[in-house]
Amino acid sequence: MKITLLGTGSPIPDPMRAGPCTLVQAGGENVMVDCGRGALMRLMAAGVFPGMVSTCLVTHLHSDHITDLNDLVTSRWVMMPVNVPLRVIGPPGIRAVVDAMLQMLSPDQQYRHDHHDDLRANGPLTVNVEEVQPGDSFSIGAVSGTVHETDHRPVRPSIGFRLEHDGKVVALAGDTVPCAGVDEMCRNADAYVQTVIRHDLVSALADALPNGGRMRDILDYHSSVEQAAQTAARAGVKNLVLTHYVPPMAPGQEDDWKAQATAHFSGPVILGPDLTSLEL
Ligand SMILES: [Zn+2]
Ligand SMILES: [Zn+2]
Repeated sequence: MKITLLGTGSPIPDPMRAGPCTLVQAGGENVMVDCGRGALMRLMAAGVFPGMVSTCLVTHLHSDHITDLNDLVTSRWVMMPVNVPLRVIGPPGIRAVVDAMLQMLSPDQQYRHDHHDDLRANGPLTVNVEEVQPGDSFSIGAVSGTVHETDHRPVRPSIGFRLEHDGKVVALAGDTVPCAGVDEMCRNADAYVQTVIRHDLVSALADALPNGGRMRDILDYHSSVEQAAQTAARAGVKNLVLTHYVPPMAPGQEDDWKAQATAHFSGPVILGPDLTSLEL
């Protein structure tokens, strides 16, 4: 099993970091978790064509986590010789989002159908959407998955995924504060991927900004680096993987971020630029 951080950014646009997106490769399957800004550029950099993506798992419907789902769906449809609809698994609400997205893409579909006979013969652009709840399970080829409740209130619902293949387990949370659902999802996992923010830096930024209230608001619904490390220690996780750095982690700050995690978690802490990966 290989885990690659395709995008380590956040809603704040960054020239060096794509939006939230993680690739899990196991058993010949390529599973994307969330699909943020620029995810497909990083997907190609990881050597995976859009048509090779088995499934896109969505943790919640915040824009930064689904910005480029339309790019994945369209690029796949345009590039593949056959029409194999993308499978999207997400929380209730994802179906309405995908339906609206397909509506947005309908002029494009018409142009391409008008221009390419073979694409027209392949039929319409469709997506296979599955809305799931905590407690549900699913399979992606030989990869088995379970759905877990996370706490990103007032964003409801939000979920995380535990994927298992060949005895290896990765737990992937989107944005969430520590909670029982995340603990259960992470129990003895080989790797735990968590989106994080720096409470100290975000607080300082909020104080310095004339209108810092909006920045301060984000403190109460994301895990801090320390909290992610505490969850990892509590759940007996082997490797902690941090992503979605807020504020963006500047070059040379890696050790500073890592130190906040290693104060609470004794195992390996993986973080870095886009395309940082971990093989289990
Ligand atoms: Zn969010
Ligand atoms: Zn986010």
